[in-house]
Amino acid sequence: MNEEFLFDEPMDRHTTWRIGGPADRFCIPASIPALAALLRSCPPEEKIIVIGGGSNLLVADAGIRGTVIMTRALKGMVREGERLRVGAGMLLPELLQSLARDGWGGLEFLAGIPGTVGGAIRMNAGTDAGVISDRLAAVTFMDRAGHSERREVSRIDFGYRRAGLPEDCLIIEAELLLDQGEPRELLEKIRKRWAQRKEKQPLSFPSAGCVFKNPPGDAAGRLIDACGMKGLRVGDAEVSSVHANFIVNRGHARAVDVLELIGQVRRKVREKFGVALDLEICLLGAFPDRP
Ligand SMILES: Cc1cc2nc3c(=O)[nH]c(=O)nc-3n(C[C@H](O)[C@H](O)[C@H](O)COP(=O)(O)OP(=O)(O)OC[C@H]3O[C@@H](n4cnc5c(N)ncnc54)[C@H](O)[C@@H]3O)c2cc1C
Repeated sequence: MNEEFLFDEPMDRHTTWRIGGPADRFCIPASIPALAALLRSCPPEEKIIVIGGGSNLLVADAGIRGTVIMTRALKGMVREGERLRVGAGMLLPELLQSLARDGWGGLEFLAGIPGTVGGAIRMNAGTDAGVISDRLAAVTFMDRAGHSERREVSRIDFGYRRAGLPEDCLIIEAELLLDQGEPRELLEKIRKRWAQRKEKQPLSFPSAGCVFKNPPGDAAGRLIDACGMKGLRVGDAEVSSVHANFIVNRGHARAVDVLELIGQVRRKVREKFGVALDLEICLLGAFPDRP
């Protein structure tokens, strides 16, 4: 089993922020049976962390104690009429392109969100135009013992960037609802969404997208901008001057730099507007002080 693991694997290779120290053990299971075997081989006290595309993660500079499982290789796709079964490790941009080319749509509102199907379900990722759970029929996940369960979407309580699934479950497969469409039109819709993003988001620097959730009825980016914090910098971490809810890595930012900026932004927004900003990003690993 040992040859399947990488030891002390730097996590900055696996996060879109390009930040994060080493994980004790790191593995990319090649199939669902391989994942089940891996889980069964882990001692119960071993901490297991699942990641997809690493596009919503801040990993501690000290890294992660335990085993990180990346779903990248779980990418199977089977379409049955308007229902698609797809592996959790499939990247959303790849999925959207491939479906559109074959004349299948209904998910274009997710265009431009990086990361995997599994990560998108865990985060209930979305845009102003909808969230992934709107087009979901069922989710199959595995527990720590390697047992899998299929759950209809009506039995999952989804919220804003939240999925009511067992805390430590590993999503392995999704069933998504599709609509038939014209390939050229679908590809054009996707292209337009990407173009809009390029105008509004700082895509030329590593980031993890929006750092904070939007408070009810408002936008975190608007509040941060109104506090005059665009361009504020700690080390190589910077509040983006393009979109204030993004913190970009201008070179060699560390997780502590990002955390310090997060702390400053929260304090200022609370002082000026009395609003407490909640994190949208997920913190993983050995942080000395969690915000
Ligand atoms: C430039 C940019 C733009 C973005 N725009 C958007 C946007 O418009 N809307 C939006 O919602 N998000 C956006 N994001 C954030 C991010 O892309 C989404 O949250 C995405 O769905 C995360 O998927 P991932 O596979 O990268 O998950 P990861 O970042 O790897 O993980 C995120 C969380 O999901 C868990 N997880 C991952 N895979 C699984 C699995 N198979 N089973 C169980 N748990 C799992 C992880 O443990 C972690 O808690 C953006 C990010 C970037 C960098």
